Amino acid sequence: MSYLAEGQCSDCGEFPDKLESLRIEGDGTLRLCKRCFSRARRETNWHAAHVEPAEQARTRRARKKAAPGSFTEDEWSALLAMHPGCAVAWLGDCEGPLHRGHITPLSRTELRPRNDIGNIMPICRRHNFAQRTKTLDEWLGYGAERRVREALGASNGS
Ligand SMILES: [Zn+2]
Ligand SMILES: [Zn+2]
Repeated sequence: MSYLAEGQCSDCGEFPDKLESLRIEGDGTLRLCKRCFSRARRETNWHAAHVEPAEQARTRRARKKAAPGSFTEDEWSALLAMHPGCAVAWLGDCEGPLHRGHITPLSRTELRPRNDIGNIMPICRRHNFAQRTKTLDEWLGYGAERRVREALGASNGS
């Protein structure tokens, strides 16, 4: 999960003193704090709820590579400073660390999505996984994208 900051637990998003490595079948290694690590080892259905399936993750990385545009860590930090929480927090039940989500998913090539900061939103893991390939308006109803863009403010352009 390269969208996490250095030293951050992939699950809870906290910054522990020490991270444990959990190997994921076909998808490298997750870095977890002690608490999340032991939970992951204990709960048999943990993977389905917390880890993007390997094939889906591979496809997502390939699309990211193919999409035009890019953004810097500074731009991401500036966006977080403007909006330090999940962009769709009004839905409630936010869970997991903040991901670098796409307002228009990169899978929607017919909409010509870009991988630059104007298309990026902080979104919690649960809501990022829930959005899947939908635009915000498709997912949450007309006006949702506008609401998010307004909340993200000037640093996110339009
Ligand atoms: Zn954790
Ligand atoms: Zn959320």
